[in-house]
Amino acid sequence: QETPDSVVDPSFCGSFTKSEPTCMMHHQRPKKMVAFEGALTGRRYLGCPVQQDAGVNCGVVEWVDGPWLEILQRCLARIWDM
Ligand SMILES: [Zn+2]
Repeated sequence: QETPDSVVDPSFCGSFTKSEPTCMMHHQRPKKMVAFEGALTGRRYLGCPVQQDAGVNCGVVEWVDGPWLEILQRCLARIWDM
């Protein structure tokens, strides 16, 4: 899965410290990130640590938060349409 746009949140950032899981292509410890894109906004995930402008970024390693409630997803989608 492609890395969504993300925002840095001080409560969830830096490297994921456990050795598992690692990203698919580089086998590196993923970065803790918070999505900032449409209905995904605010969902925490572990993502490939390779910068998108420095090579291939292999995307989402693992979602920390499951999908938001549908009602919230619809509201978020509307906000992003504004
Ligand atoms: Zn990677």
